Amino acid sequence: MSRVFGAVRFKDGEIKFLTYEGIVGKCAPSLYETYKEAMSCLDDAESAKCGCDDEEEVEVYSSYANGFWWRGRACRRCGILTDRLEPSGEVKQPFKNESDNYYYPKLGRPDWYYEMIKMIQK
Ligand SMILES: [Zn+2]
Repeated sequence: MSRVFGAVRFKDGEIKFLTYEGIVGKCAPSLYETYKEAMSCLDDAESAKCGCDDEEEVEVYSSYANGFWWRGRACRRCGILTDRLEPSGEVKQPFKNESDNYYYPKLGRPDWYYEMIKMIQK
């Protein structure tokens, strides 16, 4: 199965779910309150656009393969991931400096991984 779950975490700690398509290496942009909602929606997502200026920096997690995460931007009001749906570049680790750290996906689990898992198990 190439479509897997992922999630974003806003800076205030709010977590929302999305899906990640492993074959194309890209997230569908729509954000959902729950894992179940995310996994049951067939996303038409390419068309989702943010019409406001409320984008925020988020951390994005994909459970594809052994899991990895990176930084992107999302709009809470529009409920979409707006930037870096496709984590660009190869997965590098360890990182040499902060700018690499920003731009490249990191293998493994972000700090909020278990918080997200608890939400799935509810
Ligand atoms: Zn927006």
